[in-house]
Amino acid sequence: MYRGVRLGRIHDIEVIADWSLLIIFLLVAVSLATGLFPRWHPDWRPAMSWITALTAAVLFFASVLAHELSHALVGRRDGVMVRRITLFVFGGMAHMENEPPSWGAELRMAIAGPLLSIAIGVACLLLVSASVGPVEVRTEDEAVRYLATLGAGATILLWLGWVNLILGVFNLVPGFPLDGGRVLRAIVWGVTGDHRRATQIASKLGQAFAWLLIAFGIAMVLGATVPFFGRGAIGGLWLILIGWFLNNAALMSYRHLLLLDSLNNVTARRLMHLVPVRLDPATSVLTVMDRYLMSSGQQVFPVERAGRFLGMVTLKDLARAERAHWDTTTLEEIMTPAQRLPALAPQQQASDALEAMSRHGVEYLPVVESDHLLGVLSREDLMKWMTLRVGESGEHSSTLTRPSGVPRR
Ligand SMILES: [Zn+2]
Repeated sequence: MYRGVRLGRIHDIEVIADWSLLIIFLLVAVSLATGLFPRWHPDWRPAMSWITALTAAVLFFASVLAHELSHALVGRRDGVMVRRITLFVFGGMAHMENEPPSWGAELRMAIAGPLLSIAIGVACLLLVSASVGPVEVRTEDEAVRYLATLGAGATILLWLGWVNLILGVFNLVPGFPLDGGRVLRAIVWGVTGDHRRATQIASKLGQAFAWLLIAFGIAMVLGATVPFFGRGAIGGLWLILIGWFLNNAALMSYRHLLLLDSLNNVTARRLMHLVPVRLDPATSVLTVMDRYLMSSGQQVFPVERAGRFLGMVTLKDLARAERAHWDTTTLEEIMTPAQRLPALAPQQQASDALEAMSRHGVEYLPVVESDHLLGVLSREDLMKWMTLRVGESGEHSSTLTRPSGVPRR
């Protein structure tokens, strides 16, 4: 599912560059090398423009990565796990394994990124002005002359400073899935105490902003000049794409939250299913195959002795057992021991169960109370419940597949 190149690991967070990053990287490098930098420095040779442009583009994506890392590291202090950051065509994404536990945590995590981008931006611009001293630029001619005096380093810093400021401010727009949408949701959540309502507002504003970008984009494609975004069909198409992406992400994050909400306030005991066939550890694989596998309809077989839960055997475990030795292989040899299974307590929230399944990459979890197995909760059980509940609230969703993480820009 995650196409791309693994760039490395920072603070236990995997950094992945999606293939689509290449598109935007080339777009940035080409437009700097053939457009902006030759305009600023008419005397530069093409090689000089290209080297400066490529360096600037690399530093730009490094600052996007720093932005995502700041979300991840601030979130981690509040217990939000981020194990992967993806850089892709629309920027960066930190994949959260769980939602922030409180509105304060959400606020801190969301604001960290834009603040870091703005700080990087201000620092770059201060460095430029420190290196060239105070200059007064009043007319366009003066600006052209001022830019031409800048060296390659100052040129990169000036550009990097402005794009980081824009990145920080753009992300503060108060609509999902932008950071500003998270900030807004945290504040509404804090004021009203209503998480779902807060999400709904942030999601609606996010969609409104996305449609605004699409409208601007269409206007630009038709030849109009839009304040701040300028003009031109390419820029217009780009805005339409970004708007379309933001609109989808706003809808998805709202639906994902509805799903998670439907799993809150319902216990594992309520949603688990019973597993009547339980087997002794000394049972042979052959016996299971002959007597229980097809007739029971169970996907997993608990292994227990005198009512004490010892482990679990799945269809996969059975399939792995060598056919010639079915009669001599016992369940004890092929089972996953209980100590190595993440177990649920009966009163635990079903949303915890979903998180645990995603974290451990399993399809089912045993529900255990003082060494005794009560039942099994599978991903299918959760999906069944979510389909009923989400259907009930009038929201239809076609995203009932593994919600393995919440994208965050
Ligand atoms: Zn961000």
